[in-house]
Amino acid sequence: TTMQIAFIGLGNMGAPMAANLAKAGHSVIGFDTAGTTAEGVTNAATAPEAVAGADVVITMLPNGAILRAVAEQVIPAMKPGAVLVDCSTVDVDSARAVAEQAQAAGLKAVDAPVSGGTGGAINGTLTFMAGGTTEAFQIAKPLFDIMGQKAVHCGDSGAGQAAKICNNMILGVTMIATCEAFALADKLGLDRQKMFDVVSTSSGYSWTMNAYCPAPGVGPTSPADNGYKPGFAAELMLKDLRLSQQAAESADADTPMGQLAAALYTQFVETEDGKGMDFSAMLPRFEKRGRG
Ligand code: NAD
Repeated sequence: TTMQIAFIGLGNMGAPMAANLAKAGHSVIGFDTAGTTAEGVTNAATAPEAVAGADVVITMLPNGAILRAVAEQVIPAMKPGAVLVDCSTVDVDSARAVAEQAQAAGLKAVDAPVSGGTGGAINGTLTFMAGGTTEAFQIAKPLFDIMGQKAVHCGDSGAGQAAKICNNMILGVTMIATCEAFALADKLGLDRQKMFDVVSTSSGYSWTMNAYCPAPGVGPTSPADNGYKPGFAAELMLKDLRLSQQAAESADADTPMGQLAAALYTQFVETEDGKGMDFSAMLPRFEKRGRG
């Protein structure tokens, strides 16, 4: 059945996601403060105007503070029983606060961050990790199936964001481990292709080694083969690592490797060459350095 959808935040991710919903036959009204648009989507003049008649409101915004501000505006304008689906990557506390506010206003809420990047958004192959009631998840599920290829209902509100930052904490730590091992291997005179051949089929294998190898010319094509142009930007990795450390702080969890990864990506992005580079550009960074 055709749904009336409002889509707030038509950026690199939001625009192609909204376009895919429109292409599938849903009626989509968009809004973005930057005035961006998406194919097949009609823009409203304000966010409250966009959401007024919507069965489902989807947000795809930069961070938790902006999400809270947008929620403040749109929740009072949504129709009773409608579902607010936030697909942004935000802190767990903001996700839970917005869900509570929506539920208090008689709405349903789902936090549903994604993995898969802009390629996944364009091709409709994202993975959604969702938190909220089963009822709310079931309403949003057909839309996840259009915008993505997998949707996991992880638990109550905030569970989607929790899954996202735990996954990306592993990703950041693993990328660093893979890059420092390559740099060590180089200094030991080991050929990079041999290093890949062994590790990718041994117990050190990982997604970062096998699917996104940080060494150019080795393994499947990755941003390393394209001058480390993102891909997944180092700044975005840093954002997610910071969210993981904020969550660890608020949940009193000991995450020393995540903490170290956050510190290293901070240094990389803020005082080294990492800004604007793919997060796998940690390899040339290590190559340039010695132990001291
Ligand atoms: P983006 O900066 O391209 O898009 C965000 C959009 O939100 C912008 O167009 C901006 O104008 C708009 N916006 C900001 N404030 C607004 C407001 N108050 N009302 C309406 N619109 C507003 O970012 P993106 O790459 O599309 O990422 C969006 C979210 O998805 C982020 O939380 C990001 O962490 C997450 N994410 C991104 C990727 C990726 O590869 N780009 C992958 C997974 C998850």
